[in-house]
Amino acid sequence: MPTHDTVITKKLSGKKVAQFVYSDLEKRISSLAQNGVIPTLAAVIVGSDPASQVYVRSKMRKFRKLGLNSKTFFLSGKSTSEEIVSEIKGLNNDDRFHGILVQLPLPDGIDSNAVLRSVSVKKDVDGFHPENVGLLSYGNPRFIPCTPKGIFRILQYYGIETMGKHAVVVGRSNIVGRPISAILSAKSRDANATVTICHSKTDDLSSYTQQADILIASAGIPGLINGEMISNGAVVIDVGITRVDDRSDKGYSLVGDVDAHSVDGIAGALTPVPGGVGPMTIAMLVENTVEAAERSILT
Ligand code: NAD
Repeated sequence: MPTHDTVITKKLSGKKVAQFVYSDLEKRISSLAQNGVIPTLAAVIVGSDPASQVYVRSKMRKFRKLGLNSKTFFLSGKSTSEEIVSEIKGLNNDDRFHGILVQLPLPDGIDSNAVLRSVSVKKDVDGFHPENVGLLSYGNPRFIPCTPKGIFRILQYYGIETMGKHAVVVGRSNIVGRPISAILSAKSRDANATVTICHSKTDDLSSYTQQADILIASAGIPGLINGEMISNGAVVIDVGITRVDDRSDKGYSLVGDVDAHSVDGIAGALTPVPGGVGPMTIAMLVENTVEAAERSILT
């Protein structure tokens, strides 16, 4: 177990970085408007998962607030993979939409890979199409998935050095763990980290997390990471969001993968939950949709 001198744990506010992103996007949005283009997103929800509805609603609210357009397509939970693919193909060919988002997870029995593959690579603002995944690991990205892109922006905004640092990523999903590993290990001036990926079958997780200069916690297990598992001064990015029932008025709270109380005074910096990675995921979705709209007038 490492010994710890007390440090002041800096709060890395994703809310603040997201504001910075939006103010930068304003110029790009108004220049698109001068060309008669309003970035527009199509969101596809299949079934009635309440969390998916909440996530999509909050994304759409942000689009509205910024004067951008969005439309949600609700498909029955009984839809077949072929029906979903056919809906997406229609959106691919509809010039009103610059970006298409398929809210995950899809209901059991749906071929998620076939659905994600059917999104036009030029409208794939979530960056989940295999071609876009390949381009990212190739070091030549078209669309970078929103959550890892947002994490990277937080590191950049707060001037956190990644070059030669050891980043330990807990979680190997296609949405977070794998793409953030590709981003941080890329051969580029603002990445160049040495990356270790841990997952559910990793033996002795602490032996890895204790080595991290930068720790990305994205397992979806509340409190998985505590103060004894990190080294003094480590930068800790808490990606986890789990709804836990409590006695508050809302009846629940959102909890991260990091036990914030126990890492306080040990971590050099920490993203809060909520207000950390979450707002950046939405900001990056807006940015990717603006990018898609910009490319649409170039081609
Ligand atoms: P996932 O379930 O697809 O993946 C979880 C990963 O954690 C898996 O790769 C698994 O191997 C690993 N894991 C599970 N138990 C582990 C353990 N004990 N030790 C080490 N690794 C373990 O989840 P996901 O989609 O990658 O999401 C992860 C978390 O991030 C969830 O809480 C999710 O809600 C949250 N999330 C937040 C945002 C955001 O905007 N803040 C976006 C996406 C996901």
